[in-house]
Amino acid sequence: MSQTTPSSSRVIVVGGGLAGLSAAHTVLERGGTVTVLDKKPSFGGNSVKASSGINGADTPAQRALDIKDSVKDFIADTTISAGDLARPQLIETLTSNSAPALEWLSTSFSVDLSLVSRLGGHAIPRTHRGKGGAPGWAMTSALIKKLEKAAAETPEKATLVKGAKVVGLVREGERVTGVEYQVGEKTERVTGTVILSTGGYAADFSSTGFLSSYRPDLLELPTTNGDHSTGDGHRLATSVSASLIDMDQVQVHPTGFIDPANPDAKTKFLAAEALRGVGGLLVDGKGRRFVNEVERRDFVTEKMQEVIAAGDGPVRLILNEESYQELKAHCDFYISKGLMKSFANVAELAQTTGVSGAQLRETFTSHGEYASGKQPDPFGKQHFRNSTYDTETPIYVALMTPVVHYTMGGISISPTAQVLDASGKPIAGLFAAGEVIGGVHGKNRLGGSSLLEAVVFGRVAGESASK
Ligand SMILES: Cc1cc2nc3c(=O)[nH]c(=O)nc-3n(C[C@H](O)[C@H](O)[C@H](O)COP(=O)(O)OP(=O)(O)OC[C@H]3O[C@@H](n4cnc5c(N)ncnc54)[C@H](O)[C@@H]3O)c2cc1C
Repeated sequence: MSQTTPSSSRVIVVGGGLAGLSAAHTVLERGGTVTVLDKKPSFGGNSVKASSGINGADTPAQRALDIKDSVKDFIADTTISAGDLARPQLIETLTSNSAPALEWLSTSFSVDLSLVSRLGGHAIPRTHRGKGGAPGWAMTSALIKKLEKAAAETPEKATLVKGAKVVGLVREGERVTGVEYQVGEKTERVTGTVILSTGGYAADFSSTGFLSSYRPDLLELPTTNGDHSTGDGHRLATSVSASLIDMDQVQVHPTGFIDPANPDAKTKFLAAEALRGVGGLLVDGKGRRFVNEVERRDFVTEKMQEVIAAGDGPVRLILNEESYQELKAHCDFYISKGLMKSFANVAELAQTTGVSGAQLRETFTSHGEYASGKQPDPFGKQHFRNSTYDTETPIYVALMTPVVHYTMGGISISPTAQVLDASGKPIAGLFAAGEVIGGVHGKNRLGGSSLLEAVVFGRVAGESASK
């Protein structure tokens, strides 16, 4: 084993997703020295895949679009969604730092967040994205670029090590003083204060994994997560007596794409919630709606599972031309991957798939009546967008399955991102941020709140570790 012992004022960030990148930049902004280690050959984690956007309340983009929002409203939505596992202090940290987090992304990294949409469970549109590529990619690539520049220009301040799997925490007495990591055949050690930002465990399907331990009922489902999402940070934390909370709280997202060319693939592309936010409809195998498409994820998933269990599947997502145009870049990507297909009209869809054309006509007509307020939607939908579905114009259609997507459970932390033991005492020298932490979202995470969690708690952890 080779040993390096750099300055003890160094902060070691384990995981180069959005949480780790946000923490690393914050350490540099505070004048500190940082080492970022990631087990993969490139940074980005699941953050790079995020497709709907990032939440912020009372932002310049909302004001420009005349959307009235407040931290109080965001707290209310998050608290309802979190249910009886809501933790007010963590929710306060998440929401009150949301507008400053988005401003930081825009001003320090020139990330465009000028478009705002409403995702399920939000009373107000507050999920931000830009006009270019997918929001996760836009954010992570901007932060990676600036970090790589810092590492190239001031190597004494910033060290980035890819392909470096952290396998242990080093301790002196009760204090965490560094990490051990494997790079190729070698084991290395680096000294400093540690921030864990290794993401969640939504791909930890092994027989000894967290899903087997806490949610064996989900083992048969596919996942949207990269294969790095195996709960490494959780295990590192418990090796120094950290407490894990809410580990059985796993978010199953209602809409993963079933690829007709590979329907049994364990890893699925996510059908961004924004597809329903811009007006997409969910229908059963006969073409009947069965849910308010913009309800919370846990609710939509439950209704989809009922449809599938009753033998009324498969479930399809249908977009009209206006919805397609609003998310054209996303849809064109899905079409290029063979996940979404365009049909000239309802008749063509019915002919190719066996969905009842007459039923779909009826579904479209009644949806129009609910949208225009002629009748209330029997499923309770109140916020309609691009609601005119015409049987003679093109539609865009994809097969959907529920997918394991996000893990609400994780490492117990204080609002200042200190890792806590079972008695609630901070473990000296150890912080955590991003999906690896538990408790921020309680029972259900709202769409757009995980990228926010990564940036907000990444910055908080970076600041706390710098002190
Ligand atoms: C397809 C998809 C779409 C999504 N869309 C959205 C969205 O629109 N809005 C939203 O808010 N959320 C979204 N999410 C959720 C969100 O992207 C993630 O929860 C968030 O990005 C997690 O960030 P993170 O930095 O904590 O973890 P990650 O981005 O997953 O990064 C963790 C990093 O840690 C590294 N790592 C793990 N173990 C080790 C180890 N032992 N040693 C060294 N490195 C390690 C990994 O290689 C990885 O690079 C989406 C998720 C997916 C999968």
